[in-house]
Amino acid sequence: MKPLDLIGSFPYDLYPTIRVSQRATFEGMKGVEGKLIRQLPVGSGKTAIGATYLYALRKQGKRRLFYIAPNKTLVEQVHTLHPDMKVAYGRNEHPCLYYPDEKLRADEIPCSLLGDCPHRVDQLTGETHEEGAIPCPYLQQKFEAKQMLAPVVCTNAFFLYTVLFSEEFEPEGVVIDEVHRLAQSIRSVLSTEITDWKVQRAVDVLDEVSPRQCAKLAAFLVSMRRLVKRHAMDKEVLLEEDQIKRLYEALMTVNPAMLQSEVRRAISSGKLDKRADREILKQLEDIMRSVRRFQHALKFAMTGATERGYPLNFVIAFGKSEMGEHDRVQYKIVVKDYYVVPLIKKLLPKDTLVYSATIVNPELLAFETGIKGDYASIPSGFPIENARIYLPTNTANLSVKSMSDSKREKTKMIRLIARTAKRFANKGIRSLVIVVSNEERTKFLEFAHEEGLKAISYGNGMPPRECAKRFRDGEGDCMVGTTANFGEGIDLPKKTAPVIFCLRPGYPRPDDPQTQFEERRFGKRRWALWNWRVMIDLLQVRGRNIRSEKDLGVTFLISQQFRRFAWGALPDWLEPAYRGDLSFEECVKDAKKLLV
Ligand code: SF4
Repeated sequence: MKPLDLIGSFPYDLYPTIRVSQRATFEGMKGVEGKLIRQLPVGSGKTAIGATYLYALRKQGKRRLFYIAPNKTLVEQVHTLHPDMKVAYGRNEHPCLYYPDEKLRADEIPCSLLGDCPHRVDQLTGETHEEGAIPCPYLQQKFEAKQMLAPVVCTNAFFLYTVLFSEEFEPEGVVIDEVHRLAQSIRSVLSTEITDWKVQRAVDVLDEVSPRQCAKLAAFLVSMRRLVKRHAMDKEVLLEEDQIKRLYEALMTVNPAMLQSEVRRAISSGKLDKRADREILKQLEDIMRSVRRFQHALKFAMTGATERGYPLNFVIAFGKSEMGEHDRVQYKIVVKDYYVVPLIKKLLPKDTLVYSATIVNPELLAFETGIKGDYASIPSGFPIENARIYLPTNTANLSVKSMSDSKREKTKMIRLIARTAKRFANKGIRSLVIVVSNEERTKFLEFAHEEGLKAISYGNGMPPRECAKRFRDGEGDCMVGTTANFGEGIDLPKKTAPVIFCLRPGYPRPDDPQTQFEERRFGKRRWALWNWRVMIDLLQVRGRNIRSEKDLGVTFLISQQFRRFAWGALPDWLEPAYRGDLSFEECVKDAKKLLV
């Protein structure tokens, strides 16, 4: 096969010139077979690189091309830059036309039980079930995406459901943006939850419709409640294999196919009405789907049941001893699909390009996602003199192990950040503070108040995105948030926050079930994975305030824990920005010289 014509496929109608980093990326991809993994820094024009790759594949006759981004905001950004691509969203982004008076979304209705819907679009012919009916927007966009030669831009979730589960597309070319998040994002999509409330509702309804299946579901409910009550009240608990086995055996007696046909029969005989009983039907549809998925997922949470000889999933139980006024769920079981490598392998064709600004270590990316291929890290075109990464010599080590008095030391470090942020604020320099826990965030706000620093954060009805917007619009001298909320995805360019303080790396909490699962599964090897994740966090945080070649930005890494991995995380081009041998005061002085 002829090599990809990347330069010739570049969309000159959308971008006046090819940037140096784009040209370097295309040169490096020339003639390389198989999957491509690229670390592309901020400002390298990665969306155009991905689009060009797909256009070049199209030129070669490849069809069903996908650009995949982790969330809707990024999908929209890609579509704004490349309006020729077809956007495809999940059901939750489309209205359902079956119940015109109720303004419902396509994920709020029992679609699979409404076979007579006049708006249903045949995915082979594009015709509606009833001639002349308005096509269902969700199914119509899927049909169009299948017909078009243009690449489809969609989220991880849409791609996963349509390619893997419903097998509606067989992609021939794929680009994955922000690939460092892929495994976790697929895990969250595949997390399956079953609650006592949902099962109880189904049992109540099924009594008349399907008494035998109802009795089996009721028996499962008893066993689930008993298990949670005994082991997981007011805390999330990782279930042991014998507990999972008991749940599995109870659930396997339920036959979802039988359940479905009996519900359909009840609809045909008029026992259940598609319009009047919509909510009940939706609950039944949900429970049938959950049972099916649970039966499958629980099996892979047991050692003996998997080909690999170790569990691929883990199961969490949780129960509330006190129910709030609006609480409906008291007991729940969640199955988390952990081992996503085989799924990702199945999803991706040979022609795949994945990238992110923070890959750091391609071997660990392969370990987490199974994606292996030709790797290159492209240098940034931004002047390195505009950036500093400080790891002062005289700040505390905030790891729990390293000091018995780590709580007091942490308080001291949070105070130090508040005081220093105030000193910067006095010079008109704003800052972003990244902490790991909510407790640290609250403490910082308290100290900021005492120091006279105008700090803002989310909470009390204000979501993190809204808070970031207000800060960008000029509110406050300092913004504080956790790594989970502000570590990624918010841009603070043009001196919005030239100073970033990062309190400590966010290693996983020991009481988190995923942490316990990884400990058991990987033993000592887990540290390589955890260090990789905190390295990515570090690089993501650092990148928040330098979004263009004119931006100036410094990052203070406070805890000495960073010393273990910070240098190793830096790509070659970023190394000159690192300052690891100055005291805290010397770092502040140096930062002022750069920023004032
Ligand atoms: S096919 Fe019909 S019932 Fe299903 S989502 Fe579309 S409009 Fe609603």
